[in-house]
Amino acid sequence: MRYDDSPPSPESASSVSPERRWFARRSGLAVGAAVLAPTLLAGWVLVQVTTGAGADDARPPRIVMPAASPTVTPTPSASASAPQAKGPLAGKTVVIDPGHNTGNFEHTSEIDKKVDIGTARKECDTTGTTTNAGYKEAEFTLDVSRRLRTVLEAKGLKVALTHETDRAWGPCINERARIGNEAAADAVVSVHADGVSEGSRGYHVILPAKVKGGAADTAKIVGPSRDLGERIGSNFARTTGSAPANYLGSGTGLVVRDDLGGLNLSTQPKVFIECGNMRDAKDAALLTSPEWRQKAAQGIADGIVGFLGG
Ligand code: ZN
Repeated sequence: MRYDDSPPSPESASSVSPERRWFARRSGLAVGAAVLAPTLLAGWVLVQVTTGAGADDARPPRIVMPAASPTVTPTPSASASAPQAKGPLAGKTVVIDPGHNTGNFEHTSEIDKKVDIGTARKECDTTGTTTNAGYKEAEFTLDVSRRLRTVLEAKGLKVALTHETDRAWGPCINERARIGNEAAADAVVSVHADGVSEGSRGYHVILPAKVKGGAADTAKIVGPSRDLGERIGSNFARTTGSAPANYLGSGTGLVVRDDLGGLNLSTQPKVFIECGNMRDAKDAALLTSPEWRQKAAQGIADGIVGFLGG
């Protein structure tokens, strides 16, 4: 949904936002972690992550980045499922940001706490929307993000998610931006779905406006982010068959915004994609389809790969 723009909560925000920066890795990689540990442990720590209510405690240990290390460790070439990228994709890193977190619904006081986005103060995070049947936007965004990671890793790209199932809520929007920045990501994509009125349909990509204030200065990313966003939009339309949003963007599927902390604080080329409207029955039928989500991930991946020159 249009995260970042929910009204302030009257509740007091008493919880302390965790400063840990998690780089959750997918379970498939974690399974091989014992074998790969000697390589990975240069700059990494292996942590059994425990989270709050609703967490899947059966998951294997995750590899997370210690706070002192600002770079992303390459996916080990020893993994059969992680080919080495060749040509222009070699050495490139992509950060994927699954919008919201299913746990946000149970942590409203924490996510309502305001953070500095340079140009303003905004809520740490929002719950995101749901379909009328209750399928959460945060479930959708994580599923698409994981599919997207799989496609990109098959191209040999290094990929990190801003969060997975490693935390009970969040991260805050400023932390989501920081993860992409500290990874020196060549491209960052935040995955969302909108929650607007029935009859509003289609996708749109949100591009960063040129802003400057506090820690926010997007002058260097406005141009490359537009290139990234246009490529993602056109490829998304091709793979999914979806049309550009009919309720904003004048039919271009592109919208520029200056109020999103995740964009304002980014130093790396970054866009958001709103894949469809969860509150529209026809769009919801697409968003709840695993086959459609795979097409969505493929389209986003194709846009990223094109942007990176692959
Ligand atoms: Zn959202």
